[in-house]
Amino acid sequence: MRGISAFGAGMAVWLCAATAGMTAPSLTVLCGVDEAWCAVMQKAYEAKTGLEIAMTRRSTGDILNQIRAEKAAPTVDVWWGGTGDTHLQAGSENLLEPYQPAHERDMLPWAQNFFAMSGGRSAGIYAGALGFAYNAELLRAAKLPAPTCWKDLTDIAYRGRIQSGNPNSSGTAFTTLATLVQLFGEEEAFRYLAALNRNIERYTSSGSAPVKAAARGEVLIGISFMHDAVTQKEAGSPLVIVAPCEGTGYEIGAVSIVKGARHVEAAKRFVDFALSPEGQATGAAAGQNQVPSNAMAGLPLAAPDISLIKMVDYDFATFGSPEERSRLLERFDAVVSAMN
Ligand code: PLP
Repeated sequence: MRGISAFGAGMAVWLCAATAGMTAPSLTVLCGVDEAWCAVMQKAYEAKTGLEIAMTRRSTGDILNQIRAEKAAPTVDVWWGGTGDTHLQAGSENLLEPYQPAHERDMLPWAQNFFAMSGGRSAGIYAGALGFAYNAELLRAAKLPAPTCWKDLTDIAYRGRIQSGNPNSSGTAFTTLATLVQLFGEEEAFRYLAALNRNIERYTSSGSAPVKAAARGEVLIGISFMHDAVTQKEAGSPLVIVAPCEGTGYEIGAVSIVKGARHVEAAKRFVDFALSPEGQATGAAAGQNQVPSNAMAGLPLAAPDISLIKMVDYDFATFGSPEERSRLLERFDAVVSAMN
C-alpha cells in the first residue's frame, strides 16, 4: 500500500482501472514446438473456444526444469509439444495429471503405445525422425565431401562447421544423445561425441536452431529433426537433408497436463483440441512437417516418409526415465567440458 500511495491518488485510480481492464488468461501453455506453430495453435484454440491462453515457447529440457521447480505451486496448465521421452521423465516424477483424451481411440498405434507407456499421463501428438542437413551452396564453395553418415560428421574437413543442440535444454539434442547410444552402444557413442565435439561450432539452446543456421548459411551442417530441415527447405533454403546411413532415432512429440494445474477443465479441452484432426491441422498450417498422431488427420505434403528411413527401435521406457536422463546428461557435460 505504501508503494501505491507514494504515486498519489491519481496514479492509484489509473492503476485500478488498468488492472480491471486486464483479463486473466483461462489457460497457461508452455509450447515446445516451433514458434510459428505455437502462434497458429494459440489463435486456433482461442477462436474455437473463446478462451484466452497465455502461450510461451521454451525448449523441452527447460520446460521440464520449470515444471520441476514449480512442483509445489504450478503456474503452467499444459505442456504442449516437445520430445516425448522428456514428458515420460516428468510423468515418472509425478509431475503430470493423468487424462484420457477424447480422441485417443483414433490415434495411430505408436501414439497409443506411447499413451499406455506414460500411464495415461501423456499423449502423442506427432512423430518425426532425427537427421542432419547441410547447406549445398556452402559445401560446393568449400569443395567439401557431402556427409551421408553420422560417422562422416567427425571428419576433420568439418572442423568448426557443425551445430547441434545442447541436450540439457533441447529435446532434439537429448534424442540425438539417446539415438547415438542406441545405435553404437554407450562407450562407442561417447567416443563418437568426443570426436564430434571437435567439429562443433556451437551447442544451441533450441533444437531447431542448427538447421535454421545452416539454412541461413551461417554454418555448414545442422543436426536437428528432419521435419525441421524440411520446413527450412520448403521456405527456399539450399539445404540437403540426410537420413544417416547407420540409421537414426525419432521422437514422439507429446502433450500433458501439469499436476496441480489451476485450470484443469480448460486444460482437458486444450488436449482434446490438440489431438483432434482440426487441432493437428494447425501444424501443416504453420508450415510444420511432423507426422500427426491422429489417423484422421492429414499428412503435411512435404513430411518425410518415416517408413522409408532406417530407424532404431527407440527405447522410450529406458530413455524416458529420469535416472537415465540425469546420468547421460552428466556424462555428456563431462565429455564436452573436458574438451573445451
Ligand atoms: N521443433 C520441432 C519442430 C520439434 O518437433 C521439436 C520436438 O518435439 C522441437 C522443436 C523441440 O525443441 P527443442 O529441441 O528446442 O526442445
